[in-house]
This record gives sequence, C-alpha cells and structure tokens, in this order.
Amino acid sequence: MRIDTLHRPELYARRGYGAEMTSQHQNTPSWDQIRRAPKVLLHDHLDGGLRPGTVVELARETGYRHLPETDPDKLGIWFREAADSGSLERYLETFSHTVGVMQTREALVRVAAECAEDLAEDGVVYAEVRYAPEQHLEGGLGLEEVVEAVNEGFREGERRAKVNGHRIRVGALLTAMRHAARALEIAELANRYRDQGVVGFDIAGAEAGYPPTRHLDAFEYLKRENNHFTIHAGEAFGLPSIWQALQWCGADRLGHGVRIIDDIQVLEDGSVKLGRLASYVRDKRIPLELCPSSNLQTGAADSYAGHPIGLLRRLHFRATVNTDNRLMSGTSMSREFDHLVEAFGYTLDDLQWFSVNAMKSAFIPFDERLAMINDVIKPGFAELKSEWLFQQTASTSGSAVSED
Ligand SMILES: [Zn+2]
Repeated sequence: MRIDTLHRPELYARRGYGAEMTSQHQNTPSWDQIRRAPKVLLHDHLDGGLRPGTVVELARETGYRHLPETDPDKLGIWFREAADSGSLERYLETFSHTVGVMQTREALVRVAAECAEDLAEDGVVYAEVRYAPEQHLEGGLGLEEVVEAVNEGFREGERRAKVNGHRIRVGALLTAMRHAARALEIAELANRYRDQGVVGFDIAGAEAGYPPTRHLDAFEYLKRENNHFTIHAGEAFGLPSIWQALQWCGADRLGHGVRIIDDIQVLEDGSVKLGRLASYVRDKRIPLELCPSSNLQTGAADSYAGHPIGLLRRLHFRATVNTDNRLMSGTSMSREFDHLVEAFGYTLDDLQWFSVNAMKSAFIPFDERLAMINDVIKPGFAELKSEWLFQQTASTSGSAVSED
C-alpha cells in the first residue's frame, strides 16, 4: 500500500496564494481561532480526562495509595510518558490509577463536572463522554448509582460552564469492557437511562483476543430496542475487527476505525482504489471516531502528517476528530485540531467540516443535531471567518497606503 503521495502536507498547505499571505491568511486558523471554534467530540473517556491535581486530591481523600507521583505536574508527565510506550496494553494500564480514585459518588460527580467544564472551556459545544460503570463498583456503589452520579456531574459542569460564558451539552455513553462478561447488563442499563443523560453504548478494552462478536447478545438487544451504539474497532486490530463490528454487530459508528486504511490502495499515478469494506464504510457514511494523538501513542500511526485522517478526509469518509484520553495524551480538541492544521494545512472550512460531520453522527435526535449545526456550529465558524475578512481589509488598506 502506498499512501504517502496523498499525505504530503505541502499538497494541502498554502494553496499557492503566495508567501506573503501565510499566517494571516484565513486558510491558517490561529490557535485562538481554533480554541473559539465550536467543536464536537464523540470519543472521549471520562477516566482518561481527569485533571492531574484532581487525581492527587481524590487519592488523598479516598485513601488510594498507589499513585506513582503525588505532585500534580509530575503526575501529569508520568501519565503521558507511560501512555507513550507504544503498546495499547501498557496504555490501558494507566487507567488503574484514574479508575482507582473514581470509586465514590462524590469523586464521580466531581470528575464528570470538571470534564464538562474543561471541554466547554476548550470550545467544545457538544460531547459524548464514555465510561464503564462496572469499573466503579469497588467502593460499594451500584451500577445505577454510578450512572446517576456521573449524570449529576455532567449537569453541574454544564451549569458552571454557562456561568463562565460557555455553552456545552454532554451526553454519556455507557461502555462495557470487552474482556468481561457484563455487556448485556450494561446495554440494559444504557437503555434504562437513555432519556436521562445516556445517549448510547460502547465496548472498549484490548482488542486482541476479544472480538466484538463475544458480546453479540448486547448488540442484538440494543438493536431490538432501537438504541445506538459504537464499538472500539480497527485501532490495534485491523479489518476483521471493523468488519465484525459493522456486519455482525451492527455498530452505528466505529471507535477509531483508523485501520480502514488497510483496505485503501493509493496507486503510483495517485488514483485510489477502495476495497469492499472501505467502500461500504464510505458509502454508508459510517462515522469514524478518529483520535490522532492517541493513535501515535499506541503505534497505530507514526506521525500527524502520516496519519490516515489526511487521506480519509480527502476521500470524504465520515471522519471526525476526537481526543480519546486527554490526560494520557496531554491533549484537547483544540490541540488535536492544531496538530492537523499544522500537518495538513487545514482551514476553518476543514475544521467546520469535521465539526459538522461529528454533529451529524451524534446519538441525540436528528432535530437536535440539526439545530446544533444550524444554530451553533455554522454561525460560530461564520463569525471566525468574518473576523479574518475585517483583518484582511485593514491590512490591505494599510499596505496600499504605505506603497503610495
Ligand atoms: Zn477509546
């Protein structure tokens, strides 16, 4: 497979407008514009996004003694370095500490509230945040108490964000762990809370050895209930995992799905040939929850410029940009966008395309998605674009005066 010809950033960047129109040009959004752009996040783990200081405080309050560092800054670095090892299994190990401090109602409310606040602060207007209720029972909570605590936290975070001048809506996805045997039970839980803050279901955990078909009963149950689900597939494992998630389990979206690139051939002359599975994914507009920084850490991609998102966007797959685990990757939605702007020369139009794609793919009702697109996302980007227009007018008239 040759994908390099379509991944060369210079093919996307600058667009031949001339060297004098680079950083100020609308085609290169500034960091401030990226931060203010209305962003949509579909793939973010609650236990992967804690503030390091919160991990330290919760460990102290709950008597958790296994943290490798107790200084928030050092702990933040430790998480990133541990996650940087290049193996999905080691990456998953870092979660024993975050999950370890999320075993009480108060801890769950706090973590969820801060999650919503942090996302809103970063300019995210809609997010679906996932977590596995079965991993938060060690302190004596029941599954329903876990869901209610997290819901309470998200509502509190939305309220605090509003006070700070940000608007965000957060929905929960309930995750079942693929190595465990509680998928049907968690699917039923997701269904019970579907009109009370929970918008869908997911399975996560190490892909190798745990194909999604192990949990077929859960997916069949959700389909009978007309409910929504995504499946982590095509991250560490390739096409068979994606194929099973779609054709056996009936997933609405693919968590990652980045290995769909293995079914796409770029020929010497630049033409592209899609295999049957890649064609299906594109034809059916199956959303791909792509997570560039996370993929770099787990070895699913080797650089931002070499990340398959460049080709997938160009081929008009339903690509979305996501954070996966903000703490472990030291990232945010703005940072993910910033990396892509740097690697592919993406413009505000590209960022809007990703945001609209994500909003179209959300699990909330169609009319609400449409309202978010028309009333929040498009006007937000239009405002950013108009700023450029005024700046450009000012600088053009300025240069005309100086040339005289
Ligand atoms: Zn994930």
